[in-house]
Amino acid sequence: MSFVRSDHPSIAVLRDLIGPPHRLVIISHYNPDGDAMGSSLGLAHALRGMGRDVDVVMPNTPPAFLQWMPGYPEVVCADRARDRAEQLLRQADVVLCLDFNRMDRVGSLSEVLSKARRPVLIDHHQDPDMAVEVQFSDTGSSSTSQMVFDVLDALGQTGHIGPEAATCLYTGIMTDTGSFRFPATTPHTHRVAARLLEMGARPHEVHSAVLDNNSMHRLKLLGFMLSQRLTVRDDLGVAVIVLSNSDLERHHFHPGDTEGFVNYGLSVRGVRLSAFFMERGDRIKISLRSIGDLPVNELLAEHFDGGGHVNAAGGQSMKGLQATVDRFMQVLPGFLNAHPA
Ligand code: 5GP
Ligand code: MN
Repeated sequence: MSFVRSDHPSIAVLRDLIGPPHRLVIISHYNPDGDAMGSSLGLAHALRGMGRDVDVVMPNTPPAFLQWMPGYPEVVCADRARDRAEQLLRQADVVLCLDFNRMDRVGSLSEVLSKARRPVLIDHHQDPDMAVEVQFSDTGSSSTSQMVFDVLDALGQTGHIGPEAATCLYTGIMTDTGSFRFPATTPHTHRVAARLLEMGARPHEVHSAVLDNNSMHRLKLLGFMLSQRLTVRDDLGVAVIVLSNSDLERHHFHPGDTEGFVNYGLSVRGVRLSAFFMERGDRIKISLRSIGDLPVNELLAEHFDGGGHVNAAGGQSMKGLQATVDRFMQVLPGFLNAHPA
């Protein structure tokens, strides 16, 4: 079922906000993933179909496996066009914030975004914490892309979802559900996907564009990770993956190359938590995935300046790679004991 009905008061507010004469900007989170790009571009295409002008801003450039998406060439990425990105945010009357729940998720654009006139939030992460004009939050939605479809449906505007918007929204749903396999995949998710196919999305093309887009460097890094850098603690049911700066340099790392690596840990029989640690300069990026009632977002929020969903969350540390892994292994038994299988 859709999370929002057409008679919900927020829909009337949104209808006014996206109407003329307002200048509209869409923004999503740092290191945009398939859902960040899919929901933002999908909504942008639909709004353009409705006759509205809209700009899409991203804090940084998405990985290569998302750069084929319709509308990507017009996206203003702040790592390459900071002045333009900030100018658009300052001039916008309404800023639609998609697929993130806190201002700091847009990185160095957060200062400008926090001063934006009339922000609107559409997001499926836990505990949204942003001062906004109107908020659509549904932590049960598979993806923000699915929510964008529901919002357009409630607005009575799905007629403006053409093949380009449908392709983008389908991409967001497909990537955030791990190709329709994660627990948030519901009958409604499949119904929305079916509607998107009717509107022109071609699933085989999307899957191929996203998944069959490996560089040889990425595949070899994956092979190296699996054979040399993945360890499993059978006693705990935990997989740990650690990649250092030099591991990445040796494999000619490009942003996005390690996307999905953490899931390999979870594919090992008996594992219910997979932890991925990656050194990038001074910063350690942490990704956790779990199955069942193991709230990895809580562990990361408490110890590693992070958050996300119950079964998929991210965080960081500035304490060095080994010290970060050691700290994680220290807090792990207490966390697992508090949430027995
Ligand atoms: P990933 O491990 O793929 O980077 O992120 C998994 C999920 O956790 C995503 O939904 C993402 O939005 C969220 N997430 C990742 N990094 C952070 C972070 O630093 N802070 C918070 N609050 N959420 C994060
Ligand atoms: Mn998402």
